[in-house]
Amino acid sequence: MERRKGRRLVVFPLPLQGHISPMLQLAGILHSKGFSITIIHTNFNSPNPSHYPNFTFHSIPDGLSESEIEASASDIVLLLKLLNAKCVEPFSDCLVKLLSDASEDPISCLISDAIFYFTRAVADTLKLPRIVLRTGGVSSFLAFAAFPLLRERGYLPIQDSQLEKPVEELPPLKVKDLPVINTDDPNAFYEVVAGLVNETKASSGVIWNSYEDLEHSALVTLRQEFPIPIFPIGPFHKYSSPSSSSSLLTQDQSSISWLDKQAPKSVIYASFGSIAGLNEAEFLEIAWGLANSKQPFLWVVRPGLVLRGSEWLEPLPSGFLETLNGRGHIIKWAPQQDVLAHPAVGAFWTHNGWNSTLESICEEVPMICMPCFSDQKVNSKYVSDVWKVGLQLESGVKREEIERTIRRLMVEKEGEDIRDRISELKEKANLCLQQGGTSRKSLDSLVTHISKLESFTFKSHSQPSRTRPV
Ligand code: UDP
Repeated sequence: MERRKGRRLVVFPLPLQGHISPMLQLAGILHSKGFSITIIHTNFNSPNPSHYPNFTFHSIPDGLSESEIEASASDIVLLLKLLNAKCVEPFSDCLVKLLSDASEDPISCLISDAIFYFTRAVADTLKLPRIVLRTGGVSSFLAFAAFPLLRERGYLPIQDSQLEKPVEELPPLKVKDLPVINTDDPNAFYEVVAGLVNETKASSGVIWNSYEDLEHSALVTLRQEFPIPIFPIGPFHKYSSPSSSSSLLTQDQSSISWLDKQAPKSVIYASFGSIAGLNEAEFLEIAWGLANSKQPFLWVVRPGLVLRGSEWLEPLPSGFLETLNGRGHIIKWAPQQDVLAHPAVGAFWTHNGWNSTLESICEEVPMICMPCFSDQKVNSKYVSDVWKVGLQLESGVKREEIERTIRRLMVEKEGEDIRDRISELKEKANLCLQQGGTSRKSLDSLVTHISKLESFTFKSHSQPSRTRPV
């Protein structure tokens, strides 16, 4: 492993695919700026250290039992709550060891996923500055930050009768677009959101996988409401060529050879990320909507995508695949960035996770939006109504609606206009990343900011603390 003298960052990703990838991309970006990188990670969903020979990895026990892992597979709030409680001790033990290891470079600061809100108290006790990475967009974060107000004014918890009501405090959102998550423990959800927002506010700075031209007005509001340093330096994945190394599942490369045989911009790529689940009825409507659209399609059916019961494709009627005559290709996990960059792909049917949304914009692939929960709902609203680079399924997951939406996007004039707008957004992303572009400048400010924090850290750690926070 390459050794660099002087500046070390300790990085702590949340162990979910949509969080691990951007954190490791960020680590790569900062490594290229001269920092050495130490990753602390949980055993659960551990990244593969052999893919990152330049980084040092330290695994901590997360304390999750088999039954907790099983229960949290269908309740993400439970997982976040458990991780924030169970990682406190192993994480602080690990950090104390790293701080007191005189054979290693001194640590400049901690960069923690913002959802690991417990890290604020640990870092404070150890007098280590803490910057957070928020892996979602700025607009959805502002919606989370407004939760106390939204609860006070009766928007939350969401009432079915109010779904179409505009949220005047957060235009253009309607009640149905608010970033809620179904959980058995709604109070735990509010606790996690409060932890995310409050401990972000108490950080020494926030890094965003976003860019000025995409979320300018949200960034203006954020700077007013969060008087801490803000660094929008995205899109991260465009700093280097696509890499599969942070993928927790094996990416099926047959998708690329299948795409090679399809006409330009003809294929619908359908994938709903690493967490979202569908019921069997929705799954079948999607299958028939894709089949009836007469367009070729590449569909990611992650094992576990269909909730309760089926392993993989069992709910499909027998003979379904044969009737397609090769027009559909179904896989368990795709090399998504390569797929979106392939000339045959003409549309992305997505759940609008933030990474998927950015990846689609950066490859100028218009979207069909089917948000499932949390920030996906806000992202989807921005895609369809603000940036106007995609279409929502307006009357739910029904095969006729799916066919109609695919036609609007792939065949009709409306689709052409959408393609023009997404090309402009992609161009803006490219400009942000060029020398002198807003994201590059923000990255330079981040490096300067970390250098200033360093002097604070090095002074307070001239005699490393060996106490563990409680
Ligand atoms: N992804 C992938 N292959 C797939 C589906 C998704 O590599 O078949 C990647 C995708 O490129 C993205 C991440 O998984 O970087 C999903 O993150 P996102 O924020 O879109 O959604 P989440 O999984 O967090 O809901």
